[in-house]
Amino acid sequence: MKNDVFDSVVVGDGDTRIAGVSLKELAKECPTPLYIYDEDRLVKTMHAYTDHFTSPKFEGRVVYATKAFNCKAMLRLCQKNGLYMDSVSLGEIYTAHKAGIDMSGLYFHGNNKTVIEMRRAFEYGVGTLIVDSLEESEKLARIASEYPDCSMRILIRVNPIIEAATHKHIQTATPDSKFGIAIDRKDNVLETIRTIQSAPNLHFAGLHAHIGSQIFGSDPFTKEVDDLTDYMVMLRDEHGIHCEELDLGGGFGVWYNDADTPAPVEDVCRTIVSACEKAFAAKNLTPSVVTIEPGRSIVAEAGYLLYEITLIKKALKDTFYFVDGGMSDLIRPALYEAVYSADLVGKPADAPKQLVTIGGKCCESGDIVIRDIELPVAKEGDLLLVYSAGAYGYSMANNYNKNPLPGVVFVKDGTWRYVVRPESLDDMIARECD
Ligand SMILES: *Cc1c(COP(=O)(O)O)cnc(C)c1O
Repeated sequence: MKNDVFDSVVVGDGDTRIAGVSLKELAKECPTPLYIYDEDRLVKTMHAYTDHFTSPKFEGRVVYATKAFNCKAMLRLCQKNGLYMDSVSLGEIYTAHKAGIDMSGLYFHGNNKTVIEMRRAFEYGVGTLIVDSLEESEKLARIASEYPDCSMRILIRVNPIIEAATHKHIQTATPDSKFGIAIDRKDNVLETIRTIQSAPNLHFAGLHAHIGSQIFGSDPFTKEVDDLTDYMVMLRDEHGIHCEELDLGGGFGVWYNDADTPAPVEDVCRTIVSACEKAFAAKNLTPSVVTIEPGRSIVAEAGYLLYEITLIKKALKDTFYFVDGGMSDLIRPALYEAVYSADLVGKPADAPKQLVTIGGKCCESGDIVIRDIELPVAKEGDLLLVYSAGAYGYSMANNYNKNPLPGVVFVKDGTWRYVVRPESLDDMIARECD
């Protein structure tokens, strides 16, 4: 239930507080839409992972998939709390560099890394790169030869073909996926490994897979462990190839609405650790590092999106509460039918309710923030708080209809600070030429 998930949210008479910060006061100082992150909640979740993804048999490594929410303050918070991080683009690599992140701990992902990105990865000393295909390994080997004094650890992304029960747009291990090398293409995987091994400054370190996102239950992950460890046995027994790292990817589910039933992070970690320990013992495998890559589950529930209700419209069928944003700051409902939850700020749970639809201000019929939600009767100027908006909200925000990008604040102990200031109109047109 929502109240258990968001225990730092306090609804009082006429106001709501997150980590002691009044949303009414916040909205007076910061323009809406506004992303709000509960900093203590972020840290608590990070520690839930780092404290429980441990084993006496191997180093358990937690890599935050930064695409879920990426800004310098967030990356620094991760580093301070013992998380590794990934990057999938020049922009993410650059942000990590500017944030002062230890680049040797960075994992560089992506199915289509450009030459410019690869070169920058060598120049900044990125530690680990995950190769997505044979073709990419050949390109990488060419670039690596330009940097004979730099070395890089390389994982290969395999596609174990596990169709996790989640929305098709966020499945990644289907037979027709664009990601990784299908696990049954053994010759292709072997040739990729050999290409890496033949480059003197590339070091083949192991296998990576990422089976999808917003996955509930442990079955897909235990199957992933079983399949990948079988593969490690095959590589060892038939080809003498040792994998020192097994990277299982991310995809752990979070609460967006009452249909979602995420397991506690502690349990997810324990399940994966014990599946690995069992499989390693049974198959006599000794990887020194096992890695998971949570993105969404680190940030989703710690993040909120605050809107102002700017118009209430009674249409033919629906009553619309229109807000001052929409698919320009929360695109997941339009992109893959994500269902969010929300409350009116300062309205107690027992206020009289009506069925409404939260509409955005963008010129698309699909620009609906939440369809059919029971909310108290509102008036123009009321504030609407959307829950679990911390993942893939700000990071997918865009300037559609020339809506400026919202700001991001961290709240903690009754105080707030900008970690990303809101884009001004002049910021938005600054690069346009006369
Ligand atoms: C997106 C991604 C993740 C994180 O997925 P979440 O669902 O946000 O946990 C991890 N690893 C890779 C390779 C990814 O592309």
